Amino acid sequence: MAKLYFHYSTMNAGKSTILLQASHNYRERGMDTYLLTARFDRRAGEGRIGSRIGIGADSDTFDETDDLFVRIRDRHAAAPFACIFVDEAQFLTKDQVWQLARVVDDLRLPVMCYGLRVDFRGELFPGSAALLALADEMREVRTICHCGKKATMVVRRTADGRAAQEGAQIQIGGNETYVSLCRRHWRAEMGDSPL
Ligand SMILES: [Zn+2]
Repeated sequence: MAKLYFHYSTMNAGKSTILLQASHNYRERGMDTYLLTARFDRRAGEGRIGSRIGIGADSDTFDETDDLFVRIRDRHAAAPFACIFVDEAQFLTKDQVWQLARVVDDLRLPVMCYGLRVDFRGELFPGSAALLALADEMREVRTICHCGKKATMVVRRTADGRAAQEGAQIQIGGNETYVSLCRRHWRAEMGDSPL
């Protein structure tokens, strides 16, 4: 039975690596997959999902203007695939998460979404909020804080090394400015702790 999956984590936990491995497993068995990632520079078409350990795959892209149900339905009719993989799923709109739910329910295709749960302010991303509400299955991709506890939060460090307190939710590129932390150490960096 097809399901809507949400694999969530904080930054640098290896979500894209897991996505690429799962897609590879389908293709190895002769089943095609359809890969999508967020588009930020307004160019339609070719994108790429890459991972920090060096593997990658070509991907189609989405932005907030795309109807993903229509896109997937048409692509699937032209050249069938067995599974859809969506990277950077935190950037989906609520409507697009519903479109993916319709892909699962009406086209009977599994959709695997991978994304961040919360931003550097500790707020849910819109796409993640909708996926937490609608996904059939959720899996946490774990990574750890420098103290060894599970990291669930992320800070955005500015050029002077301090944690940003505010700013745009979306800032692309430069993983090195984000650090994943446990909640206690996140609070300390955000100035909400006696540490
Ligand atoms: Zn910690």
